[in-house]
Amino acid sequence: MRDQSTQLIHHAYTPPEGFSAPQPGVFKASTVFFPSAAAMRSREWKDKSAYTYGLHGTPTTYTLEERLCALEGGLQCVLAPSGLSAVTLVAMALLAAGDEVLIPDNAYAPNKAFAQGELKAWGISHCFYDPMRASDLADKIGAQTRLVWLEAAGSVTLEFPDLCELVRTCRSAGVPTALDNTWGAGLAFAPFDLAPGLAEPLAVDISVHALTKYPSGGGDVLMGSVITRDPALHLKIKLTHMRLGLGVGANDAEAVLRALPSMALRYQAHDRRARTLAQWCLSQDVFAQVLHPALSASPGHAHWAALCGSDLGGAAGLFSVIFRPDVDPQRVDAFCDALKLFKIGYSWGGPISLVVPYDLASMRGTWPEHLARGTLVRFSAGLEAVSDLQADIAQALRHAMA
Ligand SMILES: *Cc1c(COP(=O)(O)O)cnc(C)c1O
Repeated sequence: MRDQSTQLIHHAYTPPEGFSAPQPGVFKASTVFFPSAAAMRSREWKDKSAYTYGLHGTPTTYTLEERLCALEGGLQCVLAPSGLSAVTLVAMALLAAGDEVLIPDNAYAPNKAFAQGELKAWGISHCFYDPMRASDLADKIGAQTRLVWLEAAGSVTLEFPDLCELVRTCRSAGVPTALDNTWGAGLAFAPFDLAPGLAEPLAVDISVHALTKYPSGGGDVLMGSVITRDPALHLKIKLTHMRLGLGVGANDAEAVLRALPSMALRYQAHDRRARTLAQWCLSQDVFAQVLHPALSASPGHAHWAALCGSDLGGAAGLFSVIFRPDVDPQRVDAFCDALKLFKIGYSWGGPISLVVPYDLASMRGTWPEHLARGTLVRFSAGLEAVSDLQADIAQALRHAMA
C-alpha cells in the first residue's frame, strides 16, 4: 500500500468523460504530461494539435483563442497578459534595428511611448502621422517602414479615420498594417473585411484587441489578443510570444469566455447610453465641442457612417467633451470630482461609468485643427440607466460652474 500522501497525488479515480455544461471547463497547468519520452520529443507546440506546456496553450486558452477569431473574423490568435503587451508584442515580432514604425498621432498613448522608449533604444525609429489625412501617411511611408499602426476611432479624441483608404495606402506600399481594434471590438466593423463584397477582401494584417475592455466587461481582467489571417505572420508573432514567455491565467481566460456571449448586447447598451449622453452634451453651452463618431459634426463622422453604418451597436460607449477655453482646468477637475455615478478611472468596458480629464496639449505634437481648444474630458458610459447618468453630469456641471 502506497503512502497516503502518494495516494492523494496519484489517485486512480478519473471522473467519467462526457461532462457537458454551458461553460467550458477551466484547465490550469504549467506542466502537461506526455505518455512517453518519444511523445514528448515529437509533440508540436506551434499549433493546436496537442499540448506541450501551459504557456503554449491549454483547452481553456485554445477555446478562447478560437472564439476571438470568430468575433474578429481571423484565423489565428495569440493571447497576451494585457492589451498593451499585445501591442508591444506585435512591434517586437515585426521590427528590427534600422526599421521604422508609423503610428497615428491619436493612438493609444502607451503605444507611442513604447516607440519613444524601447523601440528607439533598440535602433527602431518611429514617426507619428495624421490619421485624418491619408496623404500624410503616404508621404511618411519610407523605404525602412515595416509596420503601420491604425486605430479607429482614435484614443481619447475619437476622430474616425478613412480606415479603408489608410489600409489601401499601406497595401500599395507593401507595408503590413496592425489595427488596434479595441474600440470596434470586432462588433462595429469587420477588421478583415472592411469593404464587404470585394473579390479580394480589404483587410488589415493584424488586429490587436484589449480584451480588458468589452470582452471582459467587468473591469476586473487584463488581457490582450493578436489576431491574423496569415499562417506565416501568425508564426512570426507566435515565436516572439513564446520567446518572451507571455501567457495568461486560466481563471482570467475563463472570465472572458464567460462574458463573451453577452458582449454584443452589452456593446449595444453602452452605445445607446453614450449616444444619448453625447447628444445631450451638445445642448450644453459650457462645451466647445462634443466628440462621438455618430454625431454629424464629430471629426470623421462620414468615415464612421460608411464603415459602421448608423445602427446601434456600431459606436461603442465612449465620448469626449472639450470645455470652453475660458473654463480653467481646476474647474474641470472640480466637475470630475463632483460626479457621483461616473467614477474617475482609466480603462472602460465595465458596468460602471468612468471619466478622465486629459491634458491634450501634452499628448499631441501639435493641436489638431479639427479640435476646439480647451480641457478635454473623456467619458465611458457604463450600464447604469441613462437618465441617472445624464442627471449626474447635469448636477456636476451646476456644482462646478456655479
Ligand atoms: C485599454 C487599451 C489598450 C491597453 O489595454 P490594457 O489591457 O489596459 O493594457 C490598448 N489600446 C487601446 C485602444 C485601449 O483602449
